[in-house]
Amino acid sequence: MITAYHHPDFAAPIGDHVMPMRKFQLVADAVRTAGLARVEAPAPIGEDDLLRVHTRAYVDAVRGGEPRALAESQKFPWSPVLHPSVLLTNGGLLAAARRALRDGAAAAVASGFHHAHADHGEGFCTYNGLAVAADVLVAEGAVRRVAVLDLDLHYGNGTASLCPHRPHLYNCSIYGNDYHRNQPFRDVSVVRHEDGVNHRSYALPNGSGRAAVLDALARGTADLLAWGRPDLILYQAGADPYREDPYSPLDLDHDDLRERDRWVFAWTKQVGVPIAWVLAGGYTPDVAKVVGVHVGTFEMARAVLGSTF
Ligand SMILES: [Zn+2]
Repeated sequence: MITAYHHPDFAAPIGDHVMPMRKFQLVADAVRTAGLARVEAPAPIGEDDLLRVHTRAYVDAVRGGEPRALAESQKFPWSPVLHPSVLLTNGGLLAAARRALRDGAAAAVASGFHHAHADHGEGFCTYNGLAVAADVLVAEGAVRRVAVLDLDLHYGNGTASLCPHRPHLYNCSIYGNDYHRNQPFRDVSVVRHEDGVNHRSYALPNGSGRAAVLDALARGTADLLAWGRPDLILYQAGADPYREDPYSPLDLDHDDLRERDRWVFAWTKQVGVPIAWVLAGGYTPDVAKVVGVHVGTFEMARAVLGSTF
């Protein structure tokens, strides 16, 4: 059975906010009840490991709350429990990555990573656990190369910004590109999309459906393998490409997103690379629809990889 890492304290109390923090608990409960995963609590990530990616000034700001603009650069109201909560979500991602290397697949019921830069947060992302996990596992000699497959609606600009100095890390970001409707992410969307040897991006035109996503996956993974065969895939299984999401200009329903996930798991199985996934974004006001996308990812993992557990 797949192991999913979750901790009740993943959800920092941020009040009435577009980011539905309660989805973490709802997804963990749903996959446990359905027998789709065993749910375990991760340890918080060590601050030494955070500092492999993030600057001391930024980490100090998030921990202590000052300077406040930097502490809240990810667009969450700062409180003393914010830092402990993101240490846990980043610890969950690292635990899932380690588990995937052992079991073939694992998940962290967490989100909030791919917009985070070395020295600040953006777009509800405080620390970039994707790059942190890659750096930790490479430093330990557990892997040589890690690839991020990012299918959140939004471009993974934080991860891309961390790639140029990390030849062991690859970022493939397949994103929806309606800049005008994505108002809360305007600061993210205007970032230049400068692809490099180990960070490539693929824009989905407005109205894209299943065929466009699967075509982008085929192109994106071919480019990824041309870079090199990774020892681990970190998958951002975003729920915000969903057609009812307030930010989404795409035309993807639950079945389309399940086919996306099926394609991803079948590909990792075919190339024989372990996969650890995280929830990534999802803002549909009816949170049950967000949870449905994330539970679908677990169902497809079991359908495709079940025999390997
Ligand atoms: Zn997103």
